[in-house]
Amino acid sequence: MNLRYGSILDYSNMDYPGKVASVVFLAGCPLRCGFCFNEALLKEENCAEESIDFFVEHFKKQTKDIDAVAFTGGEPLQQANALRELIPRLRELGFLIKVDTSGFFSEELADILPAIDYIVMDVKTRFEPDAYKEITGYAGDKELLFSKILKSIAFIEKRDHGLFKEFRTTVIPGFNDTPETIENIAKQVSFATQYTLQQFTPNYGTISPHFRDIPLTSREKLLELAKVAKKTIELVAIRTAEKGEELV
Ligand code: SF4
Repeated sequence: MNLRYGSILDYSNMDYPGKVASVVFLAGCPLRCGFCFNEALLKEENCAEESIDFFVEHFKKQTKDIDAVAFTGGEPLQQANALRELIPRLRELGFLIKVDTSGFFSEELADILPAIDYIVMDVKTRFEPDAYKEITGYAGDKELLFSKILKSIAFIEKRDHGLFKEFRTTVIPGFNDTPETIENIAKQVSFATQYTLQQFTPNYGTISPHFRDIPLTSREKLLELAKVAKKTIELVAIRTAEKGEELV
């Protein structure tokens, strides 16, 4: 079985708290968030493809240099069958495993959760089917999308001890930056180990041109919203280009 991917970042101090991680950017995603600037990864046919054995051999050479392997995308769980094979082999080599997800593939997520150490799920906006469909650009049925998102959250909540459960929102001025939206999200994921509010940075490569003129989210705005989330979740962080991740 093969995995399609865009690139591998060999060393990162930013992707696993207190650990050195290698990050694999996997290809493909069923969503089309207007603010996404990973279009190259969404065009799977243009991405590289390698076997499970290739990845095992690649990371075997790094057992002394890294602690963890992080899978991001795109949507890693679009290739859940391949990950189900690869992850146990990486764990045998002693690596911690982190997976980022939008929550779209809820059943695949449920399957993979027992095999990983760290899950990060993006929560794009307030919990409301129309808002979620709009921000994700999903072409299918809004209720189906919304039920998948809710199921994924429920699966993460159910997974007992040992899993670091992070939820993350990219705060986009004019779209999801009100205290009411953040309060709504925080209540749904109140069990989170950590909730992170991430800065939106202007990018001329966003999928939708509507997002190209939106300004940077200010650190002050993130701090204001983090205080709202703190009423419900103990560990809240903000992430900015200027200061990286800061616990609030
Ligand atoms: S979930 Fe949205 S932001 Fe993430 S890769 Fe897919 S389209 Fe891009």
